Amino acid sequence: MEEGRRRAWLEALGIPHWERRPDGPAPVLAPPAPVAELAPPPAETGSPAEEPPAAQAPTGETAFPEPEALAGEEPVPGPRPVGQLDWDDLADRVAGCTACPLHEGRTQTVFGVGDRAADWLVVGEAPGAEEDRRGEPFVGRAGELLDAMLAALDLSRGDGVYIANILKCRPPNNRDPQPAEVATCAPYLRRQIELIGPGIILAVGRVAANNLLGREARLGELRGQVHYHPETGTPVVVTYHPAYLLRNPADKARAWADLKLARRTLAEEAGGA
Ligand code: URA
Repeated sequence: MEEGRRRAWLEALGIPHWERRPDGPAPVLAPPAPVAELAPPPAETGSPAEEPPAAQAPTGETAFPEPEALAGEEPVPGPRPVGQLDWDDLADRVAGCTACPLHEGRTQTVFGVGDRAADWLVVGEAPGAEEDRRGEPFVGRAGELLDAMLAALDLSRGDGVYIANILKCRPPNNRDPQPAEVATCAPYLRRQIELIGPGIILAVGRVAANNLLGREARLGELRGQVHYHPETGTPVVVTYHPAYLLRNPADKARAWADLKLARRTLAEEAGGA
């Protein structure tokens, strides 16, 4: 290219000017060519032998199988998502669950009990020693008090109420559920809520309430108002755990106020208010 035109191109493209060395090697940065000069050079031979070699298919043990070899293979079915299970399959899935280390210490899982079409769902924290032995939530003295609370509402665990826990397995030494255990177990309770479709959830105790609502609040902050379960939108009322009420009977009057709030909330829901 003629030198004047070359410089004009370089300037137009913002490329610093460089001098061609008379005898040295070609500069690394070749000056841009006008459009006509960028066109591929005419093939001199047209010989395919001058094209780069085609990529070789891998051979031997590292070779990918031929498409025909894969064609007949059926996809391996995985376990159905918990959110698609019916009651029986959900109960079986929970009974065989080994998803967190709590399964190693359990006698059996504690799935839940009661009316599968209940308006009321009571949610506790986790099975204790007696529940682990019997396979049913809220047995023993705390369970008797819970039944008395329900009876005050004309309810019983077989009629109009379902009772379940955040965790289906007993934590060692009745310690609080750990976040990873709660996260692993959460789909089971969520599916139970979906299948029951309760009008009200009564969360008993701070641990159950916080885990259900995704909060980290004190019980006093949670009581006395209507919350909503984040995933299903079900109204949630929080009250004391019956085991606490056994130790602090003076708070039973407050618990009764909570139950009445739950009953009112359910009536308003049913009335479409
Ligand atoms: N406490 C709970 O929270 N759940 C039970 O099932 C028993 C005791």
